[in-house]
Amino acid sequence: MHYYYANKVARSDGVNEVHKSDCKLLPEISKREYLGYYSDYQDAILKAQTKFELVEGCKNCILD
Ligand SMILES: [Zn+2]
Repeated sequence: MHYYYANKVARSDGVNEVHKSDCKLLPEISKREYLGYYSDYQDAILKAQTKFELVEGCKNCILD
């Protein structure tokens, strides 16, 4: 299980990235939104999609 956050600041291509709480690329507190505590990152992605139009998992902590 991991805590997941979305970056509230979208990339230049409009995508908001989802991170685990221990990711070195996790945005600072004011720039992230808590998504929840999940065993599967897909659940965090689904949650983020209810808040942001374009969502991807971070390539550092979620997608290898
Ligand atoms: Zn990350």
